[in-house]
Amino acid sequence: MAKVAINLSTGALQQEEVIVGIDLGTTNSLVAYIHPEDKKPIAINDQGRGTIVPSVVHFTQQGETIVGNEAKEYLTTDPANTIYSVKRLLGKSYKDLGEHKDYFGYKIIDDDSEGLVKIRVKDKFYSPIELSAEILKELRERAEHSLKTPVNRAVITVPAYFNDSQRQATRDAGKLAGLEVLRIVNEPTAAALAYGIGIDPNEEKTVAVYDLGGGTFDISILSIHQGIFEVLSTNGDTYLGGDDFDRAIINHWIQNNELIADTVNQDKHLSQELRLKAEEAKKTLSSQEVYTSTINGKLDCHLERHTFETLIAPIVARTMESCKQAMADAKMKPEQIDAVIMVGGSTRVPMVFEAVSEFFGKPANNSLNPDEVVALGAAIQADILAGNRKDILLLDVTPLTLGIETMGGLMDPIIPRNSKIPTKAGRQYTTSVDGQVNMKISVYQGERDVVKENRKLAEFDLKGIPAMPAGFPKVDVNFILNADGILKVEAIELRSGVRQEVEVKPQYGLTDQQVEQMLMDSITHAKEDVATRMQIEARTAAEQMLYQVERFVEKNGQHLTEEEINLTRENMQKLKDVLAANGDKDAIYAAVDRLEEQTSPFAERVMQISIKQAMAGKKIE
Ligand code: ADP
Ligand code: MG
Repeated sequence: MAKVAINLSTGALQQEEVIVGIDLGTTNSLVAYIHPEDKKPIAINDQGRGTIVPSVVHFTQQGETIVGNEAKEYLTTDPANTIYSVKRLLGKSYKDLGEHKDYFGYKIIDDDSEGLVKIRVKDKFYSPIELSAEILKELRERAEHSLKTPVNRAVITVPAYFNDSQRQATRDAGKLAGLEVLRIVNEPTAAALAYGIGIDPNEEKTVAVYDLGGGTFDISILSIHQGIFEVLSTNGDTYLGGDDFDRAIINHWIQNNELIADTVNQDKHLSQELRLKAEEAKKTLSSQEVYTSTINGKLDCHLERHTFETLIAPIVARTMESCKQAMADAKMKPEQIDAVIMVGGSTRVPMVFEAVSEFFGKPANNSLNPDEVVALGAAIQADILAGNRKDILLLDVTPLTLGIETMGGLMDPIIPRNSKIPTKAGRQYTTSVDGQVNMKISVYQGERDVVKENRKLAEFDLKGIPAMPAGFPKVDVNFILNADGILKVEAIELRSGVRQEVEVKPQYGLTDQQVEQMLMDSITHAKEDVATRMQIEARTAAEQMLYQVERFVEKNGQHLTEEEINLTRENMQKLKDVLAANGDKDAIYAAVDRLEEQTSPFAERVMQISIKQAMAGKKIE
């Protein structure tokens, strides 16, 4: 039964609710939907303003917000009140920004305990989520206006390397914009879908998605089989993109006109003019050989494609290095890649297209508009979720293992990498010390055996475990990973029946570079540190053994002879010495065995004694 609704604001009748696909980009955003007649995805172009909405929010003197091209005009003239690249700040702390703090022309502050950044505009503080919501609201309004129907549900894309907190922040931004976010989808997955790859569940393909935007670059290698999109590797640079091309052109012009860079930078109007001209030149050179213009008829802004290519060659070369690395991490050779997909406005530069095609040994796919391809794919995903394509079931997998820290700083995997999501898994743990009432649960993501090599996602204390001997409490830790790749962790102590509500607070403090590095390492070093794990396990076993024996001697010393106690102490000391000398696992286990062999008859004896005592106690005289 088709639903019919009336749009109260436009009075129009509508057949079915549309679910839109949104590409919330660092530089540009756009919204797309599936056309009800030809069933093809199409980017929304409201009132002929174009499909692309620059991801810029400007606060006017009156305190109103404007978004898009109009806002972009204030970038140089009113930088303090004009927010760009807010996507870079989603889910980030001030510390995360590190050396990139100066990148932003507006005021970023760090005022709360969680350390999540806020942006100060005049006397108000905004979170990146609120600012992203402004962009989403604009997209939503444009969609409603153009389609003449309310838009309440959406699929939003994020980079493949976005972590849980960044995905959650994106989802929250959607909520704030009045959108129910049905799914968060990886940008490369959306791009592949737009090219129709992965729609047939019987298809098996390996795809490279090269995405060069305004300020970010990433390359993802996807393996697509049975409708599952698996991220084999990702690489890139979150501070590299088309803006660097523009900057290279500006510097070239400054030199050619014998200007002083500092003087130009101080002249806001001149720098704005230069920026606009540089971008115009770059775009022109994507289809023409020469660009000629001036600023105020004086400053010469001339550029030939050949010169432009010399200027950007080092930048393009850096992206190719990332491709090489991503391929190595995915353990793939160029000939194993079935399709190369070009995403992002900067892939329009012919030199970029050629370099990528040459690297992969085949012409890259650029038949779809590279600015729109991600939004188009998001619209396809939205259509699938709307149930309009019943034959397709799209699944995603989690790219990295999720687990918790156990004794000795080891990673205990709970949801292995490449698990289909949504998924749920759990494991039971216990305490290691008598009377332990708190248990620290640290959640990590990564393939390394030692948690310190992995990425910490969250940490919390399960408090209020009733005091019991070590090993008695039963703590169930459950991981629930939803379809967006967002993780919920819960911990319950079963014996006491006390179910404690625990809140997972994501921990920040990692830069994008580190996250990318981790994704790389997870694949390169997945099996490398087995030796480390075994070593730590041996140490942990030894420490546990020492703790147990110590306790035993304290409690039951009266049943042991002095000689036995001395021998026990001697063997304990030997084990401690091995540990102190950083002995290898074999030496540790040898010492553990010796101690165990020597002390194991004790437990038996104490047991016998207590049974006898118990029997004696029952005798009625
Ligand atoms: P993002 O995904 O980071 O939001 P986009 O994919 O929209 O960014 O890419 C924006 C970049 O693409 C800008 O640097 C813009 O100048 C550049 N760009 C757009 N069109 C062209 C073109 N025809 N030739 C070269 N660069 C272009
Ligand atoms: Mg993009």
